[in-house]
Amino acid sequence: MAFSLSSYPVTYRAKYNGKGWSEEFLEKPHKTPAEEAALGAEAAADLLDSRNFYPDMPLVGYTTQYGLSCFEGLKALPQKDGGLAIFRPDRNAARFNKSMAGLYMPGFPEDAFVKACVETVKRNAALGFTLPYKAEWEKDSFMTADSIYIRPFTYAEGGIGVNICHTPWVVIVTTPVSSYFSGGKSEAVITERIRATPKGTGWIKAASNYVISALAKHEAADAGFMECVFLDATHRKYVEEGSSCNIFFYLKSGELVTPALGDTILPGITRSSIIELAKDRKVKVAERPIAIDEVFAEAKECFVSGTAAGATPIESLTYQGKKAVFNGGKVGELTAELRDTLKGIQYGARPDTKGWMVRVV
Ligand SMILES: *Cc1c(COP(=O)(O)O)cnc(C)c1O
Repeated sequence: MAFSLSSYPVTYRAKYNGKGWSEEFLEKPHKTPAEEAALGAEAAADLLDSRNFYPDMPLVGYTTQYGLSCFEGLKALPQKDGGLAIFRPDRNAARFNKSMAGLYMPGFPEDAFVKACVETVKRNAALGFTLPYKAEWEKDSFMTADSIYIRPFTYAEGGIGVNICHTPWVVIVTTPVSSYFSGGKSEAVITERIRATPKGTGWIKAASNYVISALAKHEAADAGFMECVFLDATHRKYVEEGSSCNIFFYLKSGELVTPALGDTILPGITRSSIIELAKDRKVKVAERPIAIDEVFAEAKECFVSGTAAGATPIESLTYQGKKAVFNGGKVGELTAELRDTLKGIQYGARPDTKGWMVRVV
């Protein structure tokens, strides 16, 4: 599976004590990468389990009982020049802070967040847990390229009554990942489920939001689709986003549309980067509501965006048994150009003119 958990050994952990944060790096059990690669399946699984085990963190608390947690997802990418760099970690730091505030948790300092991400990747790399750049990735515009996924998240203190979390941990784990949507069909379907409601937590990268997403994605997969797309809760007509990614439509008029942010849409960092890249190309970009009927009548290209998805072309979208096929089922020109530019910058194959990449090594 493209998104399996095989955590690298060094983990970052911070704890809020009511006044400030205390930080530590934990070196979990490991061998050398070569020795680990030679382990049998069972021994490898045991080793990975031991890395995912934190005996001093409470089992019963607001995170495990009520889903009170938020997280981030960002990537360190092998660079064409041999180094490693993280894509826009300052933006994840800012969003993490907002997510925590939205859940009434104490904020986590943004500079500490960026430093902790860099340092966690760096310490793992120093032990040999890193990824080499492969020139063959350039052949398919990095669609099948690997990266190190960085997952910062909050974990609540022990408790049983319904309550907010006052003294969370912030943990950062890293794991190598291959591409999220690995080739094949990229057909999407509108789900009947509702991911986010006005005044809810849809704009927060909250763990609890993912319950609905996981159910809807499972149902879509059962019906043969790669991804599900949500409509808005109130009108049941405006397209909002995918299970864990934002969505874009390139219309026949030449307008690139993505749903406007509000309290039901997650403000993706890939989303805002794509908007910037499209504007650089003098493409007319609109952040506005877009009804499913307009998509069926006017859209000639469609793609979803996110740290995991990159910019992944969607070949068709099915709604109430009808299927809208984009660009004859082939990757559209603008979609390909935006995807290639973004990936090129991320893997250091194109110049980073925007200062988006933060070097690890
Ligand atoms: C994380 C996420 C995205 C994508 O955000 P990026 O910052 O681009 O990775 C989109 N939608 C949802 C619901 C998400 O959780």
